[in-house]
Amino acid sequence: MLVEVAVAAAVRGTFTYRVPAALAEEVKLGARVAVPFGRSRRATGYVVGFPTAPPGGLELRDVAEVLDAVPPFTAKLVELIRWAEEYYLVPPGELLRAALPPGLNTRKGTQGPVRRGVEYAEADPGAAAAVATLSRARAQRALLEYLLARGRIPVEELRAAFPRGRAALGALARRGLVRVETETPVARAGLLPASGAAPRLTAAQAAALAEIEGAFGAFATFLLHGITGSGKTEVYLHAIARARAAGKGALVLVPEIALTPQLSGRFRARFGDEVALLHSGLSGAERHAEWARLRKGDARICVGVRSAIFAPVQDLAVIVVDEEHEGSFKQEDGPSYHARDLAVVRGKLEDAVVILGSATPSLETLENSRRGRYRRLELPARIDDRPLPEVELVDLRRLRRPGQATAPPFVSPRLAEAIEETVAAGQQVILFLNRRGYETLVVCEACGAEARCTECSVSLTHHARRGILLCHTCGRTERMETRCPACGGVRFGVGVGTEQVEEAVRAIVPAARVARLDRDAVGSADDTAAVLARFARRDLDVLVGTQMVTKGHDFPGVTLVGVVLADTALALPDFRAAERTFQLLTQVAGRAGRGSEAGRVIVQTFNPGMRAVACAATHDYATFAEGELAERRRLGWPPFSRLLAVRVEGSATGARRAAETLAHAARPALRGEVAMLGPAPAAIERIRGRTRWHLLFRAPTPQALFRVHGALAAVAHHPPGGASVRFDVDPYSMM
Ligand code: ADP
Ligand code: ZN
Repeated sequence: MLVEVAVAAAVRGTFTYRVPAALAEEVKLGARVAVPFGRSRRATGYVVGFPTAPPGGLELRDVAEVLDAVPPFTAKLVELIRWAEEYYLVPPGELLRAALPPGLNTRKGTQGPVRRGVEYAEADPGAAAAVATLSRARAQRALLEYLLARGRIPVEELRAAFPRGRAALGALARRGLVRVETETPVARAGLLPASGAAPRLTAAQAAALAEIEGAFGAFATFLLHGITGSGKTEVYLHAIARARAAGKGALVLVPEIALTPQLSGRFRARFGDEVALLHSGLSGAERHAEWARLRKGDARICVGVRSAIFAPVQDLAVIVVDEEHEGSFKQEDGPSYHARDLAVVRGKLEDAVVILGSATPSLETLENSRRGRYRRLELPARIDDRPLPEVELVDLRRLRRPGQATAPPFVSPRLAEAIEETVAAGQQVILFLNRRGYETLVVCEACGAEARCTECSVSLTHHARRGILLCHTCGRTERMETRCPACGGVRFGVGVGTEQVEEAVRAIVPAARVARLDRDAVGSADDTAAVLARFARRDLDVLVGTQMVTKGHDFPGVTLVGVVLADTALALPDFRAAERTFQLLTQVAGRAGRGSEAGRVIVQTFNPGMRAVACAATHDYATFAEGELAERRRLGWPPFSRLLAVRVEGSATGARRAAETLAHAARPALRGEVAMLGPAPAAIERIRGRTRWHLLFRAPTPQALFRVHGALAAVAHHPPGGASVRFDVDPYSMM
């Protein structure tokens, strides 16, 4: 007996092994096996096929051990991974290893705890008075504040918000400040538990659901386009309830869980124990247990991040990709793949319905719907017809007085005034800037030398509170010196970051309670949840931060959102720069005016006329998308072409030599059909001392790119100059 094995290593292709008679019964498709590989005596591999004839001329070795009684991967998943291997040009074993929770890669067996019912947590009515007494128990305090802000919620939501909060929850329960109770879900029978009761759908929601339901049982892909708060999640929940009523399973992919804990709570409240969660906030053992529950059919709905696209949901009928435009669905390190695109492939393999939801659909998805490949469903209004906030643009060019060379103030008088008014009215403010630190660049006044990272080709960011210069690419730090190390001249900083915005806000509204939310201010998911909880409890007036403030909670108290600089992403050398800017501005604008008071948004920009900025200000996705698609078509970028990025890394001379050798090998395969951009040094030319070169291939079809890959494979396998080569199909990052 023979098996085809994908070995968990950076090698393309699969290997054939013999199965000793003693193991013949145990070996199953999708199971892990231990095999001798190369010079190592044991490597982990995955059974992906059963060849009938051995490959010629090779001495076959024996499978050493079968590691799973129940294979973690179903036959359909093996098929999906083989598809991904071909399309994304990645080693199948690496993909399989990346797909599994870490616990499973090392340990034998797949037993997990069996849970019953849904646990709900609620703060005791008198607990608000106890918050102050918990000043030294930070974790307990944060959890209690969160519960006071959110009311009665599934413990699952707390777990998503505070991945390490279990002990604190126990302590609060023992002190009588929090009650934890279990409710038995009745969702299984198609009935819904009272606490997670489904609302009656609006006409638009009902129409969307009817279309989706009508497609059940066969493969179909829908684009569900609806602004935030239009009820998309409710449509997902209903579609899944219908699938469950028919005994089928569902998979829901979300961009991240820690910043949007309410979502997992909503799924648990509605479907109880049938939901398995897969995200990085869980320990390896916990993810392992969730995987096993899905595999055994104890859980029938999986809610997870990117890698959950490979989760073993049984009898899959519905796949949801929420916020389908988000870049985090693209895996860029290691074996690269796009979970949203794989969702469509998986839907096809499993005859499932795929729902791609977004307020700002990616142009790829929009174009697919225009070509009739995806069916478009629209939810045109917010649930309670609450208006979208008024957006005002502040033209930063006008703030510069003639003849004056100094930079304009980064908080315009208009924005400063609005902050004062809002805080005075007892309402809340979110200020967004997509740059961490105090100053993004430090320059010597005398010799002009910039503070740069010695290992990466980027400038260092000044973090004033810590007194350091930090490389945002590799994390290296050095002490901030006010004198230039080269000439002794005085150094000054330019380019504003969130730390400086926070300082400016404290000067504008000295009495206000201000906090910052970015990776420097909050080290962990727990810290993040704590800050968000304080904001939700209205213990804070102003929240300053990076993208982290654009997601997360629904804060009814926020009536002003300020975008300090809309242009940070616009100038990047990336054909998606405008699209990302539009998405980000739309998302952050959507934070304002979610309560009973109307909201307003003030966007500061040097490019008020730029399509991405102007259309975000008028909430006009259609005009933005139409203009942007026309531009992409004219310039030949996706969705009107396909891209293959070849990323080369090595020594300065090695990387260059490898890139040039690859270019040489590619030329005969271009055949006038494929455009080769480069070879050229990457936009960030050096990271951690390694030089990076890129080649970008652009073609009308993926087949033409596979031909180019075929011509490059031999060189890529043994690149000259000791460099390493990675293929990235449908690349997302252009840096
Ligand atoms: P989205 O996913 O588009 O942001 P949600 O599904 O989260 O929208 O809906 C926004 C809010 O409106 C949520 O609080 C949700 O519970 C509520 N909601 C959704 N649909 C309905 C409905 N048909 N009736 C009443 N409330 C609804
Ligand atoms: Zn660096």
